[in-house]
Amino acid sequence: MAKPLDEKVEPIFQSVLARNPGETEFHQATREVLESISPVLVKHPAFTHHKIIERICEPERQIIFRVPWTDDQGTVQINRGFRVEFNSALGPYKGGLRFHPSVYLGIIKFLGFEQIFKNALTGMPIGGGKGGSDFDPKGKSDEEVMRFCQSFMTELYRHIGEHTDVPAGDIGVGGREIGYMFGQYKRITNRWEAGVLTGKGLDWGGSLVRTEATGYGATFFVEEMLKVRGDSFEGKTCVVSGSGNVAIYTIEKIAELGGKTVACSDSNGYIYDEKGIDLETVQRLKEIERRRIKDYCEIHKHAKYVANGNIWEIPCQVAMPSATQNEINGKDAKMLVQNGCIAVGEGANMPTTPEGVKIFLDAQIAYGPGKAANAGGVATSALEMQQNACRDSWDFEYTEERLRKIMRSIHNLCYETAMEYGSPGNYVDGANIAGFIRVAKAMVAFGVV
Ligand code: GLU
Repeated sequence: MAKPLDEKVEPIFQSVLARNPGETEFHQATREVLESISPVLVKHPAFTHHKIIERICEPERQIIFRVPWTDDQGTVQINRGFRVEFNSALGPYKGGLRFHPSVYLGIIKFLGFEQIFKNALTGMPIGGGKGGSDFDPKGKSDEEVMRFCQSFMTELYRHIGEHTDVPAGDIGVGGREIGYMFGQYKRITNRWEAGVLTGKGLDWGGSLVRTEATGYGATFFVEEMLKVRGDSFEGKTCVVSGSGNVAIYTIEKIAELGGKTVACSDSNGYIYDEKGIDLETVQRLKEIERRRIKDYCEIHKHAKYVANGNIWEIPCQVAMPSATQNEINGKDAKMLVQNGCIAVGEGANMPTTPEGVKIFLDAQIAYGPGKAANAGGVATSALEMQQNACRDSWDFEYTEERLRKIMRSIHNLCYETAMEYGSPGNYVDGANIAGFIRVAKAMVAFGVV
């Protein structure tokens, strides 16, 4: 099972459990970081003295609000909205909004907590936060989504701002939703404040490469992990779960780097195409027509659809979970390793359970945890903020090159930190320790605030 916690850290974790009852995903995310950081406390006793861990585990501010809206039948609906402003040591709170029926405080807190360290790893001036709602955009009309987004922003606007808190997308929140929210923010505040949201449309303050960034970045991260082992994507068979924004651009970049993705999925099932997934079809189905992945097989008759299937049973050398949290359990991880998987790059946030992570680490495959591997999305959001701040817009090649450099530097930072702290090759420890130290140093500098 999981690593035992150091005796200094165990009581802190017990207090997290007691203070945040029932928030299992948040417990999982905090425990994973706490497992890594005991060696940091030995080198930096000031962090203990300043109670940095205790402070980091407690969000600076948590906002929960009612979101009433009217559906197309004229019926009033009520959802719950959240914004957890977790840590602003390194910059304004930064992190996406998730609209999904599974959303509750524990999900937003796990995501916000992860975001602190992920954002720190990018080296850019962004703190950590996350928000969202239990609203389910699936099956809703554009007008319903618009009314929901407007109501959501009618409360959220008072808490955010380009120097305060800068939301973006996550599951269920893409360009359409950001548009409706930006429009409402602008209307209420009477400010054309580009830097208040990222993931904006290209005609109104968005950045090239932001849409592609999480998927491209995760693939670059895996490319770097493979490089360390004298290997590359060339000729590799890959499985990418999900079929949203992250999955689509992961599949695209894998193909550019010489690999072949044979399967992807949605919450109903997976498709397997031994010739390699045809990206144009997936993009049209998911991005334009908002249909289900099973329809892929209507167009590509040789492909197979497995309803409620487990995508991890497909043999692959590289697995890139890009759907949601805890989608790879211990059994799945074992199956992947047994089937010859040599690298895992997490496009989603916390997609592997603690049992699964242990199996990957014990097998010594190249395992890139989400907070490092998927940091390209938020890093490009920070590039969008930079462009907004100087009212500029950069071209695709330049922006992609910036992303590539950032991913390389995150990889190297995690790799070297793991080495320095006695767990060579362990990107989990590397990411947790490197991210933590950046935030902790800033917190010490600020005093008890
Ligand atoms: N939701 C993304 C993440 O998990 C992106 C956040 C952002 O761009 O602010 O990192």
